[in-house]
Amino acid sequence: MDHLAGLNDAQREAVMATTGPVVILAGAGTGKTRVISHRTAYAVATGAVSANQILLVTFTDKAASEMVTRVRALGLAGVAARTFHAAALAQLRYYWPLRHDGQPLPEILSDPFRIVAPLARRLPGGYQWTPAKDLIDELGWAKSRRITPESYEEAAADRTPPLPNELFVRFYRDYERAKSRQGLIDFDDMLTHTVDLLEADDEAARQVRGRYSWFSVDEYQDTTPLQQRLLELWLGDRRDLCVVGDEDQTIYTFAGATPDFLVGFGARWPGARVIDLRENYRSTPQVLGLANRLIASTGRSKRLETSRTAGPEPTIRTYDDGDAELAGIVARIRELMAGGAAPREIAVLVRLNAQIPPIEAAFTRAALPYRVRGQRFFERRDVRSAVDAIGRVPEGATGSELVAAIESVWAKRLGFEAGAEAVGAEARERQAALATLLGIIEAVVEADAGAGRQKVVAELADRAEAEKSGSVDGVELSTLHRAKGLEWDAVFLPSLEEGLLPVAQAKDDDALIDEERRLLYVGITRARVHLALSWAQERISAKGSVGKRRRSRFLLDLAPIATRRPGGAGRGATSAGRDPATRTQPVRDPADGDDPLMAALRAWRTELARADGLPAYVIADNKTLTAIADLRPQTLGALARVPGIGPAKLEKYGAEILALVARTAA
Ligand code: ATP
Ligand code: MG
Repeated sequence: MDHLAGLNDAQREAVMATTGPVVILAGAGTGKTRVISHRTAYAVATGAVSANQILLVTFTDKAASEMVTRVRALGLAGVAARTFHAAALAQLRYYWPLRHDGQPLPEILSDPFRIVAPLARRLPGGYQWTPAKDLIDELGWAKSRRITPESYEEAAADRTPPLPNELFVRFYRDYERAKSRQGLIDFDDMLTHTVDLLEADDEAARQVRGRYSWFSVDEYQDTTPLQQRLLELWLGDRRDLCVVGDEDQTIYTFAGATPDFLVGFGARWPGARVIDLRENYRSTPQVLGLANRLIASTGRSKRLETSRTAGPEPTIRTYDDGDAELAGIVARIRELMAGGAAPREIAVLVRLNAQIPPIEAAFTRAALPYRVRGQRFFERRDVRSAVDAIGRVPEGATGSELVAAIESVWAKRLGFEAGAEAVGAEARERQAALATLLGIIEAVVEADAGAGRQKVVAELADRAEAEKSGSVDGVELSTLHRAKGLEWDAVFLPSLEEGLLPVAQAKDDDALIDEERRLLYVGITRARVHLALSWAQERISAKGSVGKRRRSRFLLDLAPIATRRPGGAGRGATSAGRDPATRTQPVRDPADGDDPLMAALRAWRTELARADGLPAYVIADNKTLTAIADLRPQTLGALARVPGIGPAKLEKYGAEILALVARTAA
């Protein structure tokens, strides 16, 4: 079998690099799986390694079984593909009895919720509502760095943990105690114990190293320090390690992942082969153009390329409110379907699970088939408890009295406080989920003044039923996290607003903002052909009031694309209208020296001042114009950082100024 056929040059180079340390920096859609499987088959075919010496490490069990299938299809049997956990567990099961007087490995605590939830409910000072999931993630983060209760406080100094440090340390200790009292170890302990074993026991380490000698790790950007340590122990002083990843798709740092090992691979392994895969086989040049622009806004020059044929420009639309946005998406999906698109080839991707139900409702009204990927909204533990709690409100309550009664029962039983700020990913999901439920309830009450709790519960049951019976062939509704690695012909990315993407909690924390940007990057790179980004200027908030929204800062960085889009539904993302490109060429002012941009800026200002009957300095003073000419901002984000350009000027003149910058070469 020709394992080199159907590969591009960079892919072929990667496949043929069968020995020594190799790092493949593969962008989205560049064929990572193809390369790993072909490289493995090629290495065996050329005698670089025998099949039973190979360990292919994957991120999920599903990815492991897919990898085995791929490799089999290339004629290879007997290759092991495992997650770090599965491989570690096998080793631990074998060595544990040998090192513990014949005692078998303790049972694995497969659902830590069982221990964490009761401990959480006993937390003092209002923290009893902390979602168990956030506590479990924080334990995972700590353990992935081998941080113990003793070392936590110092190590977590820069974090925003779900509990104050002291309290978390106490909880961490209680958790460990409860776990060992029940004779259990958790998922993270599996890795820790294996690392401890291989570090302390030379004989075990020697035997384990005899088992595998050739390693390949997929999704390496999501490796934790503990997994990295394990990998080093497996390798010993050998060097046959190949890692594949894309630093721009790191979206699990909250759980302990870090792209540092991927990025620093070359430095860690002197003499490593570094291979860049840039040729994307998934998306049109237009989609990739937008993806590249997002990367460029961070000041980096990485670009994905493609030889695919051109497609439509991605759109960035501004809608008056959330309902208009949904109507716009429904209309556009109808068009795509009328043009022959299969619904399952279309996806709507959002930041939080709780953003999905309003989309479901709009699709149900429009009779569009859909299905929810991953956990369904109405099956969430917190949503089920919230719906159950409605049964406790007084029988006769209707209207706003009913809504208030529901809020108060949620406050008492679930710690819900409308509009409160949540710390922790799951707390945020829960807050958003209950706000979404409240929105549905308010709509029921508004439509029927006599509606009581039964009516509300019945409506919620109907929605849950509709969600459950979602059509297999329907439009996919998913969170961005769950969309990783997948692709669709058409992708919609709605609600790109400050507070949603980036999520409110990211605030101005650079590391969190970067992760939010990578989520958007993952979303954009899922699209093969059609890509629609949007935001709404107003949205109903948790309190039922209408709130003004601000477009996501990431849209500012992408905005120049929007000025090029043809007109259509919704309003443009910029205040275009006066298109500087159609104006007469600016007259050169001798005072501006040789800078054509400064001249163009002055001419633009003069003309605008005349047209709008404003003094020129009100539009922009000379200092501002000089700063623009010096900095030559390429995006609205960069322009916003120019002194003298506030939000109002950005909104009014941003697109025009950027067009001038683009038109006048430096
Ligand atoms: P992501 O980072 O989004 O997970 P990826 O790098 O894993 O992307 P794949 O999903 O493996 O990318 O590949 C994207 C698509 O490109 C697949 O349909 C794959 O079969 C195809 N592909 C990869 N390499 C080639 C090639 N040399 N010729 C044609 N198609 C290719
Ligand atoms: Mg992939």
